[in-house]
Amino acid sequence: MLAYGDERHAACCNWNSVEKASLIMEPMDIRLGDVYTLRKPHPCGSYDWKVVRVGADIGIRCAKCDHKVLMPRSEFERRVKKLVERET
Ligand SMILES: [Zn+2]
Repeated sequence: MLAYGDERHAACCNWNSVEKASLIMEPMDIRLGDVYTLRKPHPCGSYDWKVVRVGADIGIRCAKCDHKVLMPRSEFERRVKKLVERET
């Protein structure tokens, strides 16, 4: 009974992984133009990065040296400390 229910649920909507992710961190609302402070500084010394691409991967550009980095959304969320600035 239990095994049958779990299997069916996992197959139809991948419930287990969704719950696991939400327990670790709330889903982030990442928008183009946002400026984020990351937990670790870029080698150039800047902590601030601007979002230049949003999708399965997040593209960010260093606010100081213009270096561009593309990383999976999950990794970006782990590295972010806080949102600094949002264009309206
Ligand atoms: Zn930099």
